[in-house]
Amino acid sequence: MKFLKGIILIVVAVFVYNWAKTPTVSQQINNQLVTLTTDLKTWSEKIPFLVDSKTETHSDSQSSTSTDNSGLESIVINKKLSNTYTYYFDNNVPSETRQIFLQAIAVYNQTGIVKLTAEKQNESKNTLRLGIYNKTASDANNMQELGIGGPKIYSQYGLIRSDYNHGKATLNTAYPARLSAAIHEIGHALGLDHTQNKDSVMYPVDQGKTTLSAQDVANLKKIYQ
Ligand SMILES: [Zn+2]
Repeated sequence: MKFLKGIILIVVAVFVYNWAKTPTVSQQINNQLVTLTTDLKTWSEKIPFLVDSKTETHSDSQSSTSTDNSGLESIVINKKLSNTYTYYFDNNVPSETRQIFLQAIAVYNQTGIVKLTAEKQNESKNTLRLGIYNKTASDANNMQELGIGGPKIYSQYGLIRSDYNHGKATLNTAYPARLSAAIHEIGHALGLDHTQNKDSVMYPVDQGKTTLSAQDVANLKKIYQ
């Protein structure tokens, strides 16, 4: 019996060895691994992710509310945001205001740091919503509120960590739409905070600035490069 067991063992060993060495078998294993990897990828795209969101908006009643000096909205700091955005208008935005928003968008696109387009460009989930509202009441300091804007950051925790922004920029129709205000609110939507520099489009009181300062450009770079 011992002899027979020995023979069987040798036969099995040789069989396993040959099986593993056969190119078609290893090819099959390889193919199965590829399929498995593809399945895993498809599956990982389908499983629900844990998504956090944080919003930071400024209702710009033209008074200083800045709390730090970074020039960045705190919720965008240390986030990995794509620099591409798909923008869209709310249905009720009049064409004149759309033109002003489009001019403001051009100002940001000219930097080459961000790319804002009406068409979806790639896998980026970043969106920029452009809208209007009407608020005639002045605040306690008799300041005019020209707009509201800010980022809304989603952090997706799955197999791959990713962050994206659904920013919002809106103008108050109680006052004539201003390019400087549109640039300021889009700045908030992209993650810029108020600065104390009057050359900056992010100075809290409207200075009619329609070009980005060197500091504004540097702050954009901090978020997107
Ligand atoms: Zn502001």
